[in-house]
Amino acid sequence: MYLGLRWNAGAAALLLILPAVWLLLRWMAHAWAYRCPNCGEVFQLSELGQFTAINMGERRNVRCPTCGKRDWVKILRRIG
Ligand SMILES: [Zn+2]
Repeated sequence: MYLGLRWNAGAAALLLILPAVWLLLRWMAHAWAYRCPNCGEVFQLSELGQFTAINMGERRNVRCPTCGKRDWVKILRRIG
């Protein structure tokens, strides 16, 4: 009984947290763009791309969708 209640509380917390995280990732995907240092392409990441990218201050380690090269790209804030 006690364990059941604990599990329910954890599941309820997850149900609240996951949509919040997803919304944050969606906002980041739409608000930020990146410039590839290799080919100069400006691109945006999907929600999944945001989740898997490594952050380092103003730069992120992401794969360019145009040339396919993974590199530290500069974050351009808020386009569109
Ligand atoms: Zn590129």
